[in-house]
Amino acid sequence: MRVGVLAAQGAFREHIIALRACGVDASEVRKAEQLDGIDALVLPGGESTAIARLLQDFGMFDKVRALGEAGLPIFGTCAGMVLLAKEIERSGQPRLGLMDITVRRNAFGRQVESFEADLDIPVLGKEPLRGVFIRAPYVTSAGPGVRVLATLDDKIVLVEQGKFLAAAFHPELTDDLRLHQYFLAKI
Ligand code: GLN
Repeated sequence: MRVGVLAAQGAFREHIIALRACGVDASEVRKAEQLDGIDALVLPGGESTAIARLLQDFGMFDKVRALGEAGLPIFGTCAGMVLLAKEIERSGQPRLGLMDITVRRNAFGRQVESFEADLDIPVLGKEPLRGVFIRAPYVTSAGPGVRVLATLDDKIVLVEQGKFLAAAFHPELTDDLRLHQYFLAKI
């Protein structure tokens, strides 16, 4: 299995390490040709406006959207979740719009820019997953085809819709591989 990790900006190296630890062939995607032949794609955290701009500059934006529409499994974390969303509150910034969700950016507020919390994620088993949140978004509404996999204080922080998975937090910053493994099962 070949998994591409968008290496435009942000926390991509940690995703590659996590995916390799899961036993798959993970590599950086920096140009459009590198999207050819991958079985899944990870959109890492970072700055969603910057990542979108780089995707456009490198001629990858429409290609990633088309691959997603054609059924390529895509896992977006943090800024990657923002990119996957159809709606971004109070923002006209470019987005792939592949998931029927509305997100609010930097949604946990200035006081708590970064924090960690144990998340109860029933599809991953009984053991909670440590969520690392960094200027994280959350989902404020989700369409009928979207399955909510985790909430934190009633805020939706993990969703899936078919082959797409989106997390408001950074699973690549802990040693827990369960969410990456869960994503890989979509391939
Ligand atoms: N706040 C960032 C954004 O909306 C996301 C932060 C992150 O990915 N850690 O782009």
